[in-house]
Amino acid sequence: MHHVILGAGPAGVIAAETLRKHAPADSITLVGDEPDAPYSRMAIPYLLIGNIDERGTYLRKSDSHFDDLRITQVKAKVTRVDAAGKTVHLDNGQSMAFDKLLIATGSHPMRPPIDGMDLPGVHPCWTLADARAIQALAKPGARVLQMGAGFIGCIIMEALAARGVKLSVVEMGDRMVPRMMGPVAGGMIRDWCEAKGVQVFTGTKVEAISQGAEKSLIGKLAAAVGLGSDDDSGALHVRLSNGQTVEADLVISATGVRPAIGFLKDSGITCLQGVLTDEHLQTNVPGIYAAGDCAEAFDMVSGKTIVSAIQPNAAEQARVAALNMVGQKTELKGVTQINVLDTLGLISTSFGNWEGVADGQSAVLTDKAAGRHLSLQFKDDVMVGCNSVGWTEHVGVMRGLVEGQVHLGPWKDRLVQDPTKLMDAYLDCAQGQGRWNGAADERRRSGAGH
Ligand SMILES: Cc1cc2nc3c(=O)[nH]c(=O)nc-3n(C[C@H](O)[C@H](O)[C@H](O)COP(=O)(O)OP(=O)(O)OC[C@H]3O[C@@H](n4cnc5c(N)ncnc54)[C@H](O)[C@@H]3O)c2cc1C
Repeated sequence: MHHVILGAGPAGVIAAETLRKHAPADSITLVGDEPDAPYSRMAIPYLLIGNIDERGTYLRKSDSHFDDLRITQVKAKVTRVDAAGKTVHLDNGQSMAFDKLLIATGSHPMRPPIDGMDLPGVHPCWTLADARAIQALAKPGARVLQMGAGFIGCIIMEALAARGVKLSVVEMGDRMVPRMMGPVAGGMIRDWCEAKGVQVFTGTKVEAISQGAEKSLIGKLAAAVGLGSDDDSGALHVRLSNGQTVEADLVISATGVRPAIGFLKDSGITCLQGVLTDEHLQTNVPGIYAAGDCAEAFDMVSGKTIVSAIQPNAAEQARVAALNMVGQKTELKGVTQINVLDTLGLISTSFGNWEGVADGQSAVLTDKAAGRHLSLQFKDDVMVGCNSVGWTEHVGVMRGLVEGQVHLGPWKDRLVQDPTKLMDAYLDCAQGQGRWNGAADERRRSGAGH
């Protein structure tokens, strides 16, 4: 049996290791298009801060790890999958036959259609190669403009601040982290960043980036009369939709990601936003599976399919997919929408249906002076989602209640009156209920939304 895994990120690596553990005699090939040893993108901020070196980002520390496990690594880009012929085609001209296939190619950063995106000094922050480019330019005092204040954008800010740069952030949404935080939470995160010296533009787009000869000339003239230096010839000029132009030595594009699945076009494998899978992570083609950022997996909690580009989901999906690939029928319990964000030291969370649901109820508590905000969303007696800022002590409880679909009974009304009683509600209600209770099981059995 030959298992081929496309993508050597966390999902690919965990799947390969799980396969080896449960199928000692099978052949396993891990195909990845990055030149480096398999690494974790999550570690890039720590690399930028200087807490770790590049080796510290590697998923497995031993050089012989994959050889020891008899996992063959192929460094190449997959260009096409022939599902019927059970073959993958690579950019080095080779092709490879498989018995079982796992697609774990992750996501690509989105590239906004803006003039100047190709200029030197404009980079995403997604790969080790990007991190190296950012390290070279984000020196103390450098002017850095970051496009996008979503999940990844906020994570990177900490690292940039630690490098001592002068940071501006431009977000086209009306608040920071608009796809995860409501207006109050997003506004509090913005206030926090501004208090830390970051210039924040919300409701603003980057319209064009240029490398300004004009400004350079002005700079030279100013320098000639002793009013400044003439060292800005390489500066990027970033034109914003509010009419302002901001100068930068580095522009970081953090405007979102999308599944890296272009090579599946015409393969016969069904893709929506990501590669569509069932609760076993199998695609519409028997024997072909998908996991991680590229997968659109079935979430039995919400009854919908979801692309969720976070590492814990990638890891769990990879494990479940691999077990199914070796014939151990295993179901994915859910695609948890858990996001815990550290923005320059301010902890915020976004779980589940944080915006609320139709016919739902909510409870909101905001104490801006104390830097705390809590917004709980209910459907019947279940907490279906929440947002929080500054409630570090209750992160586990919020996750447990949302992910476990815990029936709160009379505690729901108590929480509507006083949302701070989360811990008491959890202790009282969650203990007696299994993590995946009847409602979730029922929804899965009925295949709602699937
Ligand atoms: C700066 C940063 C910080 C992050 N912080 C967090 C965090 O705090 N918490 C969190 O949960 N998540 C975080 N993430 C997201 C997390 O890194 C991803 O969810 C995770 O990497 C997904 O793993 P994956 O294996 O599915 O995909 P990836 O890690 O993207 O790996 C996929 C691999 O497949 C390769 N590939 C793609 N196409 C092809 C092809 N055609 N042929 C061959 N190979 C291909 C890619 O180059 C890549 O090496 C962060 C991401 C970044 C960039």
